[in-house]
Amino acid sequence: MLGYTEGVHIEAIDLFHLSLPLRSPWRAGGGHLADREVLLVRLRSNLGEGWGECAAFAMPFYSTEYIGSARRTIEEFLAPRLVGAIGVDSASVPGMLAPITGHRMAKSALEMAVLDCELRAAGKSFADYLGATRDRVDAGVAIGIAGSVGDLCDAVAARVDEGYRRVKLKIERKRDVIPVTAVREQFPALALQVDANGAYTLDDLDHLSRLDSLGLLLIEQPLHEDDLLGHARAAERLATPICLDESLVSVRATETAVTIGACEVVNLKPGRVGGYLEAKRIHDWCLERSVPMWCGGMLETGLGRAANVALAALPGFTLPGDLSASERFYQHDIVTEPITLQDGTIAVPTGPGMGVDMDIEAIERFRLP
Ligand code: MG
Repeated sequence: MLGYTEGVHIEAIDLFHLSLPLRSPWRAGGGHLADREVLLVRLRSNLGEGWGECAAFAMPFYSTEYIGSARRTIEEFLAPRLVGAIGVDSASVPGMLAPITGHRMAKSALEMAVLDCELRAAGKSFADYLGATRDRVDAGVAIGIAGSVGDLCDAVAARVDEGYRRVKLKIERKRDVIPVTAVREQFPALALQVDANGAYTLDDLDHLSRLDSLGLLLIEQPLHEDDLLGHARAAERLATPICLDESLVSVRATETAVTIGACEVVNLKPGRVGGYLEAKRIHDWCLERSVPMWCGGMLETGLGRAANVALAALPGFTLPGDLSASERFYQHDIVTEPITLQDGTIAVPTGPGMGVDMDIEAIERFRLP
């Protein structure tokens, strides 16, 4: 399928732990970041290099994984299963790493590097490999918890002026109905949704139902990630569709959540589910059942951003994702051609592999000791 049969002989896996300054601090889901620390993986092989990006943050506020755990897991348990192996291809990577439980973001970074390597060797783009059906995707943007309602409305206005076609507001206790109502009043026609990162309990459903009159596309992950039954109850109680993020860690989890009525819209993040191949399986499952879907974001660098744009060009992605330009978060990206916005859309990369070239000088500049 990729034009060669011998597979990859992985000679070495190098890790790069960077700290990229954010243009403005990011606050959401209990995390407060001034910099986006990021872990990159470089794989060296008989077929050349491949790069992968780990979605984990510096601290475990989004999920149990964090950069320190990913680094240790890759070095101690995952990389030794791949380095020296002969005839590896991306399809075999999940099985090779399966004896290690969990650590999906760490595994995803390695699978991505193998994909990048084999697709580069075959001269094929990731979008073509996945079966993308679009050459541009609608750009959406996430806005973190703001200091005040005025600051939030200003931030939304700035993003709307830049052309973003959908805005997602992070919400938390005491910063929900009032700020979201203010944004809706100022932007009556805006495609708008909210993300709670699991901040509420079933006792809050009456309060959250006050969002129902605001014409939101969805409310994302109102309850704890393991509370699928609670989300099913929330879906009955709230008119706003329930979207899940943190809860959906695999195709099995997605199938369960959708089947019991806990999830009406899927936020798909490759790192959260262990890689792009599992993400593709979730996509296919949802597409077959017409479950609405969009591609989430983890403040990726241009590398992960490019790969997500390719994924979001598949036909099952029916809603704009958290897919924004590099400059939304970063003054300097670590790819040579940052992701840019044009008329509210982002071009699907067409180059071999993930379609971006790494800026080695920038990587070294932002690299932590
Ligand atoms: Mg989310």
